[in-house]
Amino acid sequence: MTQILAEPYLDYSNILIRPKMGINLNSRRDVNLQRVFKFKHGQNRTGLGVFNANMATVGNFAVAKKLLSRGMFATIHKHYTIDEIGEFMRSATDEKIPLDNLFITIGLRDADAQIQKLKDLENKYGWTSSRNICIDAPNFYIQKALDVLKRVRDEFPDAVIMAGNIASGDICLKLLDYADIIKCGIGSGSACLTRRQTGCGTPMVSLILECADIAHSVGGHICADGGIVDIGDICKAFCLNADFVMAGGIFAGTDEAEGDIINKQYQTNEIINGVSVIQTKYFKVYYGMSSEYANNKFAGGMGNYKTSEGRELLIPYTGSIDKILQDIFGGIASCCTYIGAASVKHMSKCATIIQVHNQLNKVFEKYSV
Ligand code: 5GP
Repeated sequence: MTQILAEPYLDYSNILIRPKMGINLNSRRDVNLQRVFKFKHGQNRTGLGVFNANMATVGNFAVAKKLLSRGMFATIHKHYTIDEIGEFMRSATDEKIPLDNLFITIGLRDADAQIQKLKDLENKYGWTSSRNICIDAPNFYIQKALDVLKRVRDEFPDAVIMAGNIASGDICLKLLDYADIIKCGIGSGSACLTRRQTGCGTPMVSLILECADIAHSVGGHICADGGIVDIGDICKAFCLNADFVMAGGIFAGTDEAEGDIINKQYQTNEIINGVSVIQTKYFKVYYGMSSEYANNKFAGGMGNYKTSEGRELLIPYTGSIDKILQDIFGGIASCCTYIGAASVKHMSKCATIIQVHNQLNKVFEKYSV
């Protein structure tokens, strides 16, 4: 019989972090935002556990460089050639940007070629097998995903491997035999249509709780991928015990994201000297990796067995990514002072989470400038 799990499955918008007295933190500057990650398969990395999504628009070199230079984690998408990646690594090294937290993405299609790509990167450009690999599939429940994961672990025993995506705790243990980090989240992304097209997905808050509990019990880590609307959602993910957060949409309107700035003109209600004022607004394109646009660009079309599970969006242009990165550091540090957490690592131990019906006051939202 089909079962319905009736307990509430919650998303970021259904909860808040309740401030409370904790250890005495006088300033945001006292908070340690770096964390040392000791991975299941032997490696250590240090940084603030926030990734850019491994998408063509935001998993690009310019975004990765900025995140790495701020001591965060970064992915680059799977459509770069090894020569492009090699050149990027060379230029980042010249600029003294550390590459320890850079994850190279591979997909499931044509596993031999993908693994060869990593080997070529190693032989030609000195990328050593102790670096980091992100194995990306929209649906990691298929057998092929596990097969590719096993093969990559065999070929690169020292690498840090992040694998996903999944949307239930039950599969975590199996994947952690080979992976270090499980990427959790199906259907939450801002450019995603999976829930509309398939009805599948799990709200992020409940998913993080479930997966973190299982993964941590065997020394694994999880990355909460997708659905970050505000910086506060990153804070919530850490408080819920996510080790890493991955975000795409919040970086998509920046200078550093791939693509040109697009301008559109709108007629306003204002009239000066009898002429109605035209306002120009600026945007950048953000598209899902399973969108028709991405399929046409990278896979030679949709294929008649598929439907598009991603969409193409025009995101308001927001200028340099520096401002968002500053907000991320500032927001997390401030959250720590509200809950008395001395470091990001301690957020989950210090946080009290409350379920709410109304998260934000949006009364003047349409007047924001
Ligand atoms: P965002 O931060 O924009 O809410 O979500 C980014 C995440 O959305 C990505 O890291 C990835 O997991 C997911 N994603 C990217 N493209 C697609 C797509 O075309 N379809 C679906 N279902 N998810 C996508």
